[in-house]
Amino acid sequence: MTSSAASQSVTHSTDGKQPETAIVVGTGIVGIACAHYLSQAGLRVTVIDQGKIAGACSHANCGYVCPSHVLPLTEPGAIGMALRSLLNPRAPFRVKPRFSPTLWNWMWQFARRCNHRQMLTAGTALQAILDASIDEYRKLIPELSLDCEWEENGLLYVLQTERGMEHFAETDRLLTEHFGVSATRIDGDGLPDFDPALKPGLAGAFHYPGDASVRPDRLNSQWTARLAERGVQFVEDCELTGVRKSSGDITALQTSQGDMKADRFVLATGAWSSHWSAAFECRLPVQPGKGYSVTMPRVEPSPRYPMLLPEHKVGVSPFANGFRLGSMMEFSGFDTTIPEHRIQQLRDSARPYLAAPVDGPAEETWYGWRPMTWDSLPIIGRLPKLANAFVAAGHNMLGLSLAPVTGRLIAELVTGQTPHLDVAPYSVGRF
Ligand SMILES: Cc1cc2nc3c(=O)[nH]c(=O)nc-3n(C[C@H](O)[C@H](O)[C@H](O)COP(=O)(O)OP(=O)(O)OC[C@H]3O[C@@H](n4cnc5c(N)ncnc54)[C@H](O)[C@@H]3O)c2cc1C
Repeated sequence: MTSSAASQSVTHSTDGKQPETAIVVGTGIVGIACAHYLSQAGLRVTVIDQGKIAGACSHANCGYVCPSHVLPLTEPGAIGMALRSLLNPRAPFRVKPRFSPTLWNWMWQFARRCNHRQMLTAGTALQAILDASIDEYRKLIPELSLDCEWEENGLLYVLQTERGMEHFAETDRLLTEHFGVSATRIDGDGLPDFDPALKPGLAGAFHYPGDASVRPDRLNSQWTARLAERGVQFVEDCELTGVRKSSGDITALQTSQGDMKADRFVLATGAWSSHWSAAFECRLPVQPGKGYSVTMPRVEPSPRYPMLLPEHKVGVSPFANGFRLGSMMEFSGFDTTIPEHRIQQLRDSARPYLAAPVDGPAEETWYGWRPMTWDSLPIIGRLPKLANAFVAAGHNMLGLSLAPVTGRLIAELVTGQTPHLDVAPYSVGRF
C-alpha cells in the first residue's frame, strides 16, 4: 500500500484550472477522511506521514462517534479543576507545571472562554458538525463495506453516587433544553438488567441513544485499504520538513523523501500542527492533550454499551474480542512516557463499576496526543495567505467523531464548491 516519494507522479496544474492533485500531510483519521472525499471528488491524492499510517492519536482512542458530546471542554468550572491539578499528579485533567509561554497563553485563552455563554456558542458550532459527521459515517460505512465494529448502541453515562446523578441530571437538562439531545434515565436498580456488566449498587445512568461506536484501528486499516484500492497513495516515514512558496501559493512540500508537488495541500498534522504556523503564515494554536488507554481481552460479563464514568472520568469501550479503558487529559508537552500508575489509575477507576475483572493482562497500553484548541473547535478551512493550502486540524477530543464531515468540507473547499455547512466557526482566521 505504501510507496516512496520518488515514485509519486503528482503534478502542479496551471492557475485557474480545477485542481487535479492533492497532498494531505498526516494519516490520522482526519487525514484519511480528507483523502477519501478528495479522491471521491476526482483528485489524485497522496497522503504522507512522518510515521506509520494512523499510528498516532487515531490508533487506540475510545472509538465513540458521539453527537451527545456537544458541550465543549471550555465550561464554567474547568479552570478551578485545572488549577487544583497543578498540585495533584494523579488528577485526570492535569497541567504539568513548566516554563512555556505558548502553553500559558493557550491556558489564558482557554480560561477566558470558560463561561456559560461561550460554552453554548461553542456547543452550537460543535453540534452542527457532530450531527453531520455521524450521517456521513452512516453512508460511507455500508458504501465501502468497512468491517470496523460499527454499532449504534448509544452511549451510557454511569454514575456511582446519588450526588453524581443529581449533578449529571443538570448537564442532561442543559443538553435537552439547549441542544435537543435527550437521554433515557435509568435507576440504579434497573442498571444490571440494562447492562449485566455493571455491578449492583450503582446510583444510575443516562443513556444517549443517538451515539455510535467503532473499533478505531479497524476503521483506520479498512478505510486506508479501500482508498489504496481506489488509487490513493500512502507514503509512510515521510516527514514534512519545509514548504516552498511563490506568489501566495505553495509550490512544493519539502519532505524527508524529497520535494513533492501538487495543486493543493492539506495540513492534517493533529497535535503537531502548531509547528507549522510560521511556514503556513497563520496561527495554529494547538497543544497536545495527552490521554492513555489500556486494551484487554474480552471479559465476562462483557459490557454491552460504550460507557463513560463521569465521576472518575474514564471511558469503557466494548469490542468484539476485548474491551478498552481510556481517559486522562495531560498538558505535559510532547511527553512520550506511559507511567504505570496512569494505567493502574484507569483500572482502579473502572473497578467500582464493572462486574468483570479489570486487572487482566494488557494487550496494549497506549498514549495519544489530542490536538487541543483553546476554544474546543476544530480548524477547518483555507489558509488566509496561501491560496492553495488548507488546514484540517485541532479536533480536540472528537477527531474520530468529526473526521468525515471535516473531509467532506475540505474537499468542497478545495474544489471550489459551496460547503454544505457554514465553515466560519472553524476558520483559521479566527485566531
Ligand atoms: C484516550 C483518548 C480517547 C479518545 N477517544 C475518542 C473518542 O472516543 N471519540 C473521538 O471522536 N475522539 C476521541 N479521541 C480524540 C481523537 O483520538 C483525536 O481527536 C483524533 O485522533 C485526531 O486525529 P488527527 O488525524 O487530527 O491526529 P493524529 O491521529 O494524531 O494524526 C496526525 C498525523 O500527522 C502526522 N504528522 C505530524 N507532523 C507531521 C510531519 N511534519 N510530517 C508528516 N506527518 C506528520 C503524525 O505522525 C500523525 O500520524 C480520543 C483521544 C484519546 C487520547
